[in-house]
Amino acid sequence: MAETIFSKIVDKSIPANIVFEDEYLLAFTDVNPQAPVHILIIPKKPIESLNLIEEDDSTLIGKMVLAAKRLACDFGISESGYRLVFNCNRDGGQTVFHLHCHLLGGRNFSWPPG
Ligand code: 5GP
Repeated sequence: MAETIFSKIVDKSIPANIVFEDEYLLAFTDVNPQAPVHILIIPKKPIESLNLIEEDDSTLIGKMVLAAKRLACDFGISESGYRLVFNCNRDGGQTVFHLHCHLLGGRNFSWPPG
């Protein structure tokens, strides 16, 4: 897979405001936040998009969602509520081709999304 801005954040060759890290995941604040809380949760393993996840990635994807839940609690948005978003490819609005989950909260979101 081609190097992306997120793989450079994983290998620490470019800086990010990291809010969580373990063996499998990295979470950091979005450089262009769309809500008072806007955190990106990414696997360290490079996967281009949701289209390329496989059965073997089930645990990894579960870890991403569990990390999002914990971060929502840490950032005080568990009770007010939050949104998790995986954008996939052109129509999904994906711009960085390293799998990531947006954790957004701290304001009210409309539905359907634009
Ligand atoms: P996508 O549009 O692919 O779902 O989301 C990519 C997100 O990455 C965007 O919200 C964008 O603001 C964020 N982003 C792009 N480049 C950087 C960067 O260098 N650092 C950080 N922290 N976020 C970035």
